Amino acid sequence: MPVFSHAENFNHEQIAFCRKDEVGLKAIIAIHDTTLGPALGGCRFYDYPSEADALRDVLRLSRGMTYKAACAGLNLGGGKAVIIGNPRVEKSEGLFRAFGQFVDSLGGRYITAEDSGTAVSDMDLIRQETTHVCGVSKFAGGSGDPSPVTAWGVFHGIRAALDEVYGTPELEGRTIAIQGVGNVGYNLVRYLHEVGAKTIVADVDDERLQRCADEYGSTVVGLDAIYDADADVFAPCAMGAILNSNTIPRLKAKVVAGGANNQLDDIKLHGEMLQERGIVYAPDYVINAGGLINVYAEIKHMPREKALRDAESIFHTLKRIFSLGKEHGITEAQAANLVAEQRIRQIGKLAAFQRGGL
Ligand code: NAD
Repeated sequence: MPVFSHAENFNHEQIAFCRKDEVGLKAIIAIHDTTLGPALGGCRFYDYPSEADALRDVLRLSRGMTYKAACAGLNLGGGKAVIIGNPRVEKSEGLFRAFGQFVDSLGGRYITAEDSGTAVSDMDLIRQETTHVCGVSKFAGGSGDPSPVTAWGVFHGIRAALDEVYGTPELEGRTIAIQGVGNVGYNLVRYLHEVGAKTIVADVDDERLQRCADEYGSTVVGLDAIYDADADVFAPCAMGAILNSNTIPRLKAKVVAGGANNQLDDIKLHGEMLQERGIVYAPDYVINAGGLINVYAEIKHMPREKALRDAESIFHTLKRIFSLGKEHGITEAQAANLVAEQRIRQIGKLAAFQRGGL
């Protein structure tokens, strides 16, 4: 399996293969870029069909973290880790502590965190071996559930996209269709209700739907009907790849802005399809950066209030992305990449200057 010439290896700085047979640990840590700071990214625990799939995933995800941190204005680089195995049966104290030792051996170049398949309690085990971990429990000095901050960032992202389309960010009287009312979606419903917006919700979980209907008067629709909802904004807050050739033509909303990761099935094709339909798209990794902003605050020992305030700046970041997109005739997703790359280049020059390299 090629590593240096791997199709997803976009000039990654370091890839560490971690193995400890005694505890069943097989992990890969990928550090994509540390120009802006230590590479931060979650640790995914997943039963990959092959080692090649695990490598592809960690390379792709770590690069995504570089862009996300750069756009969010954080002094963080991009990294990610994957543990290969079934999290339901293969988790153990020994495995996570061994993983923590590998993280520690990188001397702070990589900071790990929760991701799918790992939990706060796993981060607490890793914390016993290294300080380079965040998202630990409040008891262990962590910042707790990041989703209220993520939802707060999405809320302000929706305002920015509305401003772009209607010339005002006002939410009162607007209707938002939300796909998925879990941790992020539920908090978003709450924030929207507080400012007088109406919500239409869909979820596979009936209890979660009922909670939104009872507490915030949300209208409940079926899983498929959410794409046809008569709404100003469509906010995907469940899973990825839901913006595709089948769903985009059905949208009535003039804005797509939600917290889910990897919303576009094909970044180029479906980004352009949205644009052709006159729909403003808030790039997922920009609008859902609140969770990362929250762990950054944790690392810097700053309070939750500071994280919430920083998440509000997603409004201005998106406005800049929208105007750059128009200026260059490119999609919002492409404009977001430009903003990230510009910042990395600029700050990279500063760092070189400090070292006397310029
Ligand atoms: P969650 O698991 O708490 O919520 C997801 C919700 O989607 C659940 O209620 C689930 O029942 C529902 N769902 C699943 N399949 C569905 C379907 N087909 N249609 C409608 N609903 C469906 O997860 P979360 O933490 O709220 O995260 C939601 C999304 O946001 C994910 O894509 C996640 O990667 C992303 N995200 C979350 C955070 C965070 O801080 N939690 C940060 C950044 C990005």
